[in-house]
Formats: sequence, C-alpha cells, structure tokens
Amino acid sequence: MVLAELKYNHQDMKRGYTNRTLYINLINNEIKIKPVSNEMKEKFIGGRGFDIWLMWNSLPKDRIVKWNDPENEICLATGPLGASTYYPGGGKSIVTTISPLTGIIIDSNVGGHFGPYSKYSGFDAIEIQGKSEKEVILFINGQDHIVQLLESSDLEDLSDNSHLLTQQLTEKFAKEPTEKEKQLVSVVSTGSAAKHSRWGMLNFSWYSRKRKWASCKQAGRGGIGTVFADKKIKALVCRAPVYDVKRNNPANPDKLKELGRKHNKNIIKFDPTMNQMRFVGTGYLPDIMNITDLLPTENFRFGQHREIKDKNIPYKRQVWFELFEEHTGKGADGCWLGCSVSCSHWVSNYEVMTGPFKGQKVVVDGPEYETIAGCGSNWGVWDPKWILEINFYCDTYGLDTIGIGTGIAFVMECYEEGIINKEITGGLELKFGNVEAAVELIHQMARGEGFGLIVGQGIKRMKKKFAEEYGGDPQFLQDIGMEHKGLEFSEYVTKESLTQQAGFGLTNKGPQHDEAWLIFEDVVRHSIPTFEDKANALYWFPLWRTWFGLCGLNIA
Ligand code: SF4
Repeated sequence: MVLAELKYNHQDMKRGYTNRTLYINLINNEIKIKPVSNEMKEKFIGGRGFDIWLMWNSLPKDRIVKWNDPENEICLATGPLGASTYYPGGGKSIVTTISPLTGIIIDSNVGGHFGPYSKYSGFDAIEIQGKSEKEVILFINGQDHIVQLLESSDLEDLSDNSHLLTQQLTEKFAKEPTEKEKQLVSVVSTGSAAKHSRWGMLNFSWYSRKRKWASCKQAGRGGIGTVFADKKIKALVCRAPVYDVKRNNPANPDKLKELGRKHNKNIIKFDPTMNQMRFVGTGYLPDIMNITDLLPTENFRFGQHREIKDKNIPYKRQVWFELFEEHTGKGADGCWLGCSVSCSHWVSNYEVMTGPFKGQKVVVDGPEYETIAGCGSNWGVWDPKWILEINFYCDTYGLDTIGIGTGIAFVMECYEEGIINKEITGGLELKFGNVEAAVELIHQMARGEGFGLIVGQGIKRMKKKFAEEYGGDPQFLQDIGMEHKGLEFSEYVTKESLTQQAGFGLTNKGPQHDEAWLIFEDVVRHSIPTFEDKANALYWFPLWRTWFGLCGLNIA
C-alpha cells in the first residue's frame, strides 16, 4: 500500500546544490519539500551542517529529546562537493540523530551511492521525523520525480538480514533487471540486531559490477541503526536518474577537473609505495599499529601481542594482501565513482561457520582496520577467518563493529577478573581468545535473547549494571571500560600519543577517530614533536575534518 506520495518537478542542480531538502513525518505520513536558503548555505555549507540545522529547527526546544522520542530525527545529507565524480572520496553521506548511546547528537560519515543518488534525484538532505506503527519503505524515484512511503509488508518475503534485504530491494526497485539499472539503485537498511542493541548501524549500498552484488558501506557509530529500527523504517531506496560528470553543475568545472586529475594522478603514483590502500584498503594499518605499539590488544591493555610479536599474525599487511588477491583478483573497487583510492575490498565465497547462514558462501565487504583490530587483537583473536565471520554477521545483523569490538573486549576483561561468570553469561566462557563465545553474543543480539541483550546496551550501561548487580568495583570498571560520553573508543591505544588521547577527549560526539586521528602523525610519522605542534594540531585537525563532513567528502 502506498501510504503517502509526493510528485515534484525536477530542478537542475546549481553549483553543487539542489536547493531543496525532503521532509518525511512517519506519524502522519506527511512528505514535503523545504527550500534551502542562502543563509543555510553560507553558514552551514552542507553535509553535517545541513543535518544539524534541520534538527535544530525541527526538534522541540523546551525539553531534552531522547533518542526514542518520535520527535528525534534521522537526517542525511551530502555537501556541495558530494556527488562529484571528478574528485576522489566525493560520494559521502553524513547521517545524524540523537544517539541511544550518548543521548546527544551523533554523526556518521558513510560511502555508498544513496547520498549522491538522492542529490541527483533533487534533494540536498533527507529529514525523517516521527515513528511509524508498521514497517515502511521510503522510495525516492528520481527518474519519475515521485517520493513514496510504502508499507513494507506489501513486498513479500523481505529478509531481516541486511545483506539479503539489500539484494532483494535492489532487484525490486531497479526499473529493469539489468546491471545498468541495478547500478542506479541504492538502499539504506539495518538488520535484526539493531532492534535489540544500542549499537545498530546503517548499511548504504552500491551495486558493484565487479562483484555482481549490491555491496555496502556502514554508517556505524552511535546507534543510528537502532533509531532507524525504532522508527520502524525497513529501508530507504533511491532510484537515480541517469547522470554524468556534469550533473553536480559546479561553479568552475574546468578547475575542479584539473584539481581532481592532479589529485588522482598522485594517488595512483604514490599509493603502491605508501599505504597500498588500492591493494589492501585499511587492512594496511594493523601491521603499522602493531609495530608501533598502538594496536589495541586484550581490551587496550597492550599495544601489541606479548607472545606472537614475531609470528606471521593476521596483522601483517601481506596476509590481507594475499586474501584479497585470492578472492578478488587485483581489481580495486571504490564505493563512489571516480574515487581512485578504491579502498573498498571484499572477500567472495566466504563459507560461514556459525549461526543461521552456516555452510553458505557469502560476500564479505571488508574487513576494515577497525573490525580487524576491534574484533581481533582486542579480543585476543588472531585468525583472519574469524574476523571475516564477525564482519559478515555484524554487517548483516546491522551492528557497529567498533561498538561490538570495544564492548566485548570489556566483557572479556570483566570475565577474566571474575566480575561476571558463567552463571551470569548463560554458560558462555568469555575469556580473551574465545571467539566462538563472542560470536554467540552477536547471534543473541540478533535473536533478542540471553546475555547478548545486556552486552548490546553498551559499556556505559554495563558498567552500572556490573557494579550494582554483580558487585564489580565501580572505579575498576570505570578504568577498564573504554567509553567516553557513552560511546565506545575506536581502535587506537592512546597511551603513546598525547594528541590522540587529547583528541578523543575533545571530540563532540565521543571518542571516534574522524574528529581525532592524530596518532599517525604523532607516533608513526613523528611530525608533531613539540607541545606547541601538538596543540596546534589539536586545534586544526577537527576543523579540517569538520570541513570535509560539511562538503560531503571522505573522512575515513
Ligand atoms: S577512499 Fe575508499 S571509502 Fe572513501 S570514497 Fe574512496 S573507495 Fe570509498
């Protein structure tokens, strides 16, 4: 059933803006278009700025809005440089909401095609308010200029697992079942665990011809997927019009083209001898972090493993290099067109070892550094196949691998210290290295049962419960529970880096590396040696990163 529909006139983009935003209210099924004012563009630029402006104007100001209040919004925007195919990393969407973990605004920067496609369809930002009674799908049809709110139960057999749901909706909403048409569809969805945990994330898809599969990038941090599930949104789907490099209509296309070409040339020239992002993605990082004593190991207690320092652990770049080469050939793949970094790696034909997909062969998007470190070394797990298993299930269940990684590492230390035991965990022996027990917690979050439900509330709430109900020492729990403002730390040991530690402390949303990633300059490159250098870097770095997030650029 079509619950609501809005037909609109197409308006060409000017200088990176469509000059419109789309508002949807899930209580009364209202769909309307709001204009973008010059003030909005001058003061808030786009991306995160537009999201926050929209939330500021729509949320009540006479009381604190909680994450699960209907007034809370999910806003999603690109920026004026976003959706440009000239410039690498220009396909980002920035998503904001009031976080179920922190109670304040969280933002997440994500690739995939949804942001650019919604812009090509006519909207600089999407603003969703209210809560639906039944599960709904928002369909932006940029080819025929119609926005529809659909009851999702009308579409038969939709999966609760995000990797399957994404394929189903890509097929159903493509105008024709051709590769070309599937490439014009992008889906945003979450999975079953987002309903039962505060670590819910959103998958943003793009159809990859190389993989013959709709792959996803994740808006992971802060529980945005939990809010999405609470609002009973099954998915957002956008079908884009056919587009070309001029669609963004920049003020000076020749200048942008020239800059983009220069930038791309340098990336292609220097990447093989520098990071090798085109070959291993962020899988290049664990090796460096391990060598420099920065790799979180066993709940951040160590920066490298005390026993297997010299062995060929999966933290060597070569391990990921070979794995990707075996599964994907030498081809690099990007989550947005024109991105020469092309860091989006994948493993095809991975045979699942546990849970509902046991024995099936699947595509795993990733793994990225944060998953390798958070759900690997930080749990005392060193086997790449388990990292793929966790990566797959977190993606399809809609879970943030940083929250899961840091959260379960905390649980493991609590278990080792005797604060929790098998009676409390329902028989799970959650010692460091017991990856099967940890994976079972993830399955429990998806099923909404067992100790996984407690763990899925996040470290801040676990600390309180473990102190009040299980007799843990509150100070000790405070010391070992790696969260700030309620958000779990991303995967860097900060004891060696004053700037990383201070940067995490100064972040607006909590300890996430997009606002604070000075560890590499500080400890690996030693480029900010004095206190003055560090103070300067702490001032400038978040401003640069904020600028990227306003413009719609990559900040990963
Ligand atoms: S750098 Fe990687 S994550 Fe960023 S746009 Fe390019 S392929 Fe996507």
